[in-house]
Amino acid sequence: MAVSGASGQTGLLVVQKLLARPDEYQPVALVRSEEGADTLCSIGVPRSSIHSVDITKTEASTLKDALTGCRALIICTSAVPERVPSEQPGPPTFVWKHGQTPEQVDWLGQKLQIEVARDLCLEKVVLVSSMGGCNKDHMLNKIGDGNILQWKRRAEQYLMASGMSYTILHPGGLVNDKGGERAFILGVDDQLLNNSHRTIPREDLAELCVNCLAVPAATNRSVDVITGPAGEGKPTWDFQGLFAAMPQNCDYTINPQL
Ligand code: NAP
Repeated sequence: MAVSGASGQTGLLVVQKLLARPDEYQPVALVRSEEGADTLCSIGVPRSSIHSVDITKTEASTLKDALTGCRALIICTSAVPERVPSEQPGPPTFVWKHGQTPEQVDWLGQKLQIEVARDLCLEKVVLVSSMGGCNKDHMLNKIGDGNILQWKRRAEQYLMASGMSYTILHPGGLVNDKGGERAFILGVDDQLLNNSHRTIPREDLAELCVNCLAVPAATNRSVDVITGPAGEGKPTWDFQGLFAAMPQNCDYTINPQL
């Protein structure tokens, strides 16, 4: 089972969840730096299962070598904005590193991962994306004029058209609270953004990613996801029931990107 963006905050938790189920999964971790590789090694991933791949620069053949033998891929890569240092008061400004814009990472980089996964006939791709994609004027699109949600949405549509089995998850705001204490809430078309509480712990998102690999009702689904507040509603482990209760997928005729 491969995880890209494995040294990122959610990716690392996904790898930890896979490591906790050794009878089912042996994670293969895709990172882009030596520091990332060291981090994965320190949590117990064998060096031979860690591959250095910058998805904006790699040849498809390198990615193919890394994913050969894997059953599925969980994509946790995303362009990471950099804050411009400033001593002036006012809102912070952000830029994208040269060659690491959302178009290059969240569109072309995801597209390459999907193509390689399809060519290798992997059983499934789970794509971690974001809520907000229905609105081209969403404030996240303004960050460094990167249109990040637009590029993510394009990659999602590419995956859906690829013929592969997929699950696309649009989490609400990610927080680092402890997982396993809140009820999952699924939705579509950014309707959950109307909730006053619209976050999800990364640990819960990671748990959901792993369960999407094997739960039949999660196949070919694109959904939004948040959790309820801690203490309100029981955490569910019935992932099949959770997806089966969702009548529809997100509607990509809203703000289409292909
Ligand atoms: P994150 O910590 O920002 O991780 C992003 C990962 O992508 C990192 O591992 C990074 O590598 C990797 N990456 C970036 N460019 C790459 C490249 N060119 N080649 C290979 N790897 C590359 O992620 P997160 O905050 O956990 O978020 C997970 C996902 O949820 C993202 O798609 C994010 O946009 C989305 N999301 C976030 C929020 C939020 O509130 N933050 C809300 C909704 C959705 P390094 O480790 O080397 O930097």
